Amino acid sequence: MVTVHGLHKRFGPLHVLKDVDLTVAAGEVVVVVGPSGSGKSTLCRCLNRLEVASAGRIEIDGEPLPAEGRQLARLRADVGMVFQSFNLFGHRTILDNITLGPVKVRRIGRAEARKQAMALLDRVGIADKADRYPAQLSGGQQQRAAIARALAMRPKVLLFDEPTSALDPEMVNEVLDVMVSLAAEGMTMIVVTHEMGFARRAADRVVFMDDGRIVETAPPDEFFAAPRTERARDFLSKIL
Ligand code: ADP
Ligand code: MG
Repeated sequence: MVTVHGLHKRFGPLHVLKDVDLTVAAGEVVVVVGPSGSGKSTLCRCLNRLEVASAGRIEIDGEPLPAEGRQLARLRADVGMVFQSFNLFGHRTILDNITLGPVKVRRIGRAEARKQAMALLDRVGIADKADRYPAQLSGGQQQRAAIARALAMRPKVLLFDEPTSALDPEMVNEVLDVMVSLAAEGMTMIVVTHEMGFARRAADRVVFMDDGRIVETAPPDEFFAAPRTERARDFLSKIL
């Protein structure tokens, strides 16, 4: 579903991604971990072309990333993203937040879009919040709304960039539970998170990044029990 080959990203003189290779199969859940500044967010942002790669090849479902125009809008629909800071439209209701994309990009009729949105809100447990505005919801509810919004586009792959890092501790699990159920239903997911409990429950593989490179890739039980590199051991000793 996702193929990354020889990806480099530079910001001026700063070389942030250094020859990254990553293949994610359909239905696979890959958790990306690594120290702050190691390039995790930049990797996600290159995958949906919020950032343009300096070199290398990225394919989603066998198609290279388009450069611009309508094809780029389609790509953004295929590659959903959930951010640390929710990024809901503050002046729109939760229901509007979810229907805007499908109506505009997927060309779904308004009534059908609302029906699908309500089903998604029900699935993430906040159907009663449809007519509220984002600021009227807790952080955990806003993040679940953001996940519903991403799902409404029927993405082929969902990227999560530290989706629970901005939440109060008691709200973390309500978001992780939604993500675990998506994983169980076969959604292809790339998840940047420090929630090792989620990695153990849901990840097929853990990818450890350091200084712009993928240093280690392993199934979660292997990675946590016996990291192969000193850098991964050092990282784990700090977060566990
Ligand atoms: P992580 O998500 O692993 O913490 P990032 O991908 O956010 O790491 O950042 C990797 C490096 O790239 C950092 O040194 C960061 O300062 C730098 N960086 C990220 N985005 C930009 C940008 N738009 N312009 C310049 N430098 C950036
Ligand atoms: Mg980041």
